[in-house]
Amino acid sequence: MKKTVTVVDHPLVQHKLTLMRDRSTPTAVFRQLLREISLLLAYEVLRDLKTTLHSIETPLAEMEAPILKGNKLCFVSILRAGNGLLDGMLDLVPPARVGHIGLYRDPETLAAVEYYLKLPEGIEDREVVAVDPMLATGNSSAAAIQRLKEHGANHIRLACLLAAPEGIEALHAAHPDVPVFTAAIDSHLNDHGYIVPGLGDAGDRMYGTK
Ligand code: URA
Repeated sequence: MKKTVTVVDHPLVQHKLTLMRDRSTPTAVFRQLLREISLLLAYEVLRDLKTTLHSIETPLAEMEAPILKGNKLCFVSILRAGNGLLDGMLDLVPPARVGHIGLYRDPETLAAVEYYLKLPEGIEDREVVAVDPMLATGNSSAAAIQRLKEHGANHIRLACLLAAPEGIEALHAAHPDVPVFTAAIDSHLNDHGYIVPGLGDAGDRMYGTK
């Protein structure tokens, strides 16, 4: 099975990511940047959506113009940092359905422990975009995707902001069918499972909790 990773290297994405990495960037600016960058990521994540032709009249002429072809979308936020990517994606696709999966990392084992799950009906017929800014060990993303599959999701992709090579490898070992989209692949994980150079704890930086 083909394992795909797309690095969204658009200059605007890279510029915003650099500002987000900078430790002196304040919480409100970090949150705003995350929202903006998620719009740009979504553009690439959803590039293969199907279109169909629709008859319209412009002020000058009739034409057959492309519109989205009944793609049913569902964004699934892997809590809590996923919500930062979710907001921007919803700005771009307001009718999308939304699911939430709450997982925390056991500080000792770094394993993902589930504490919340709420998904929309009919997930099996939807294009599912799981969103989690940091693909670090890959444990929580892999566990979230496993739960999505158990609930019938068939077409899943993962959008993140930063990925570690270890996280991509672990995710694709568990789910080779899930394409990964990220703004950058960083050097490595440190002993605490943080991405280096990274941007720190995405949730804390978004919400000012540290
Ligand atoms: N989660 C984060 O928020 N940051 C990391 O570097 C790794 C996991």
